[in-house]
Amino acid sequence: MTKPGMDLDWPFFDTRHRMLGRELESWAAANLGPSHGDDVEAEVRALVSKLGHAGFLGLTIADGALDVRSLAIARSTLSYHSGLADFAFAMQGLGSGAISLFGTARQRAQYLSQVASGQSIAAFAMTEPATGSDAAIISTTATRDGDDYIINGEKTYISNGAIADVITLFARTGEADGARGISAFILPGDTPGLEVAERIEAIAPHPLARLTLTGVRLPSSAILGAPGEGFKVAMQTLTLFRVTVGAAALGFALRALDEAIVFSNNRKLGLGTLADNAVTQANLAEMATAIDASALLIARAAWAQDKGDGDNRRAAAMAKLHATEEAQRVIDMAVQLHGGMGVTKGSMVESLYREIRALRIYEGASEVQRVIIARDLLKEHAA
Ligand SMILES: Cc1cc2nc3c(=O)[nH]c(=O)nc-3n(C[C@H](O)[C@H](O)[C@H](O)COP(=O)(O)OP(=O)(O)OC[C@H]3O[C@@H](n4cnc5c(N)ncnc54)[C@H](O)[C@@H]3O)c2cc1C
Repeated sequence: MTKPGMDLDWPFFDTRHRMLGRELESWAAANLGPSHGDDVEAEVRALVSKLGHAGFLGLTIADGALDVRSLAIARSTLSYHSGLADFAFAMQGLGSGAISLFGTARQRAQYLSQVASGQSIAAFAMTEPATGSDAAIISTTATRDGDDYIINGEKTYISNGAIADVITLFARTGEADGARGISAFILPGDTPGLEVAERIEAIAPHPLARLTLTGVRLPSSAILGAPGEGFKVAMQTLTLFRVTVGAAALGFALRALDEAIVFSNNRKLGLGTLADNAVTQANLAEMATAIDASALLIARAAWAQDKGDGDNRRAAAMAKLHATEEAQRVIDMAVQLHGGMGVTKGSMVESLYREIRALRIYEGASEVQRVIIARDLLKEHAA
């Protein structure tokens, strides 16, 4: 009998994935617990260091191609045990992903081993107060000054923004209008002119910040990829990590299902338990089916990404859209099944209910995923 979720015996996976799944599951069960929520910056620092020591952050960097299946397995396993541990792991990857994919040998040597060891915390800074979903219209500027760039602007909702040692920053260099006039930079967290303007409190506590950049000076060697190609750098990085957001949602949903099964087996109802009730059983069946459908979409998208041929945007968008939306529904069903306990602060399903919400918004809101899927379908039909 297989459990719901990603079955590592599926043909999408190789031996190394099965080994990783087993190793990380036993490490996470022994080392991770609930977040205290009072100092999430310190908690994330400690988690990054712990994950680095255990060797798992090596999965978040690469000389060119990242192994998306490994990232997906890691995220679904970590999120099952701790949303903050998943966040700490994921941000090392998203924050440094553009360096892995587009960095020169020198840039990779300078930054990546410290990200993998957990000595450096990474961040990805695209969103601005006036625009999130439409990244092509960002207005932070990087103006050429001799061999340097001077950067001015504001970034918001930046995960790890206040604690990052290395930030992938997107700014307008003006080679063309819109998307073609943006470049990606590597910004060290201690660069003069970079300030934390605000720490943002989210419903599920994570380190989030608004940053201001005033006369920040970076050498042209800090550019990732070519000038004017920053939008491409961002989209390729986001497409790759999008699948893993789905995987994090999958871990949350699986945890909710497990909690719901344990609760309904123990909760008395009439002469039996909640689990004996046909309505409960129908709900559990629906939850498990939604989870397995997400797992299959994630496995397919991660496998396609690792194969490396063709355009995998549609598969990645479907995986993120379905897994995050369905995880929200599954978790809501688990909350309902728990009755009053479901909305009691500190219960596992209550914290999952808060954790899942942002995943339907960041790294491309669900509506944006639908646009990506539909445009791709229509393009295919027109061809
Ligand atoms: C917890 C959290 C962590 C984050 N971390 C980072 C980070 O590390 N780095 C970073 O750069 N950003 C980060 N973000 C920002 C995130 O990427 C943006 O919030 C997201 O892109 C949406 O942008 P916005 O908030 O400006 O909403 P808007 O772009 O104003 O969109 C508002 C809503 O409009 C709808 N919408 C948007 N586009 C379309 C469309 N094309 N068609 C139909 N409807 C649409 C969606 O429902 C969307 O939620 C984070 C956000 C959160 C909540």
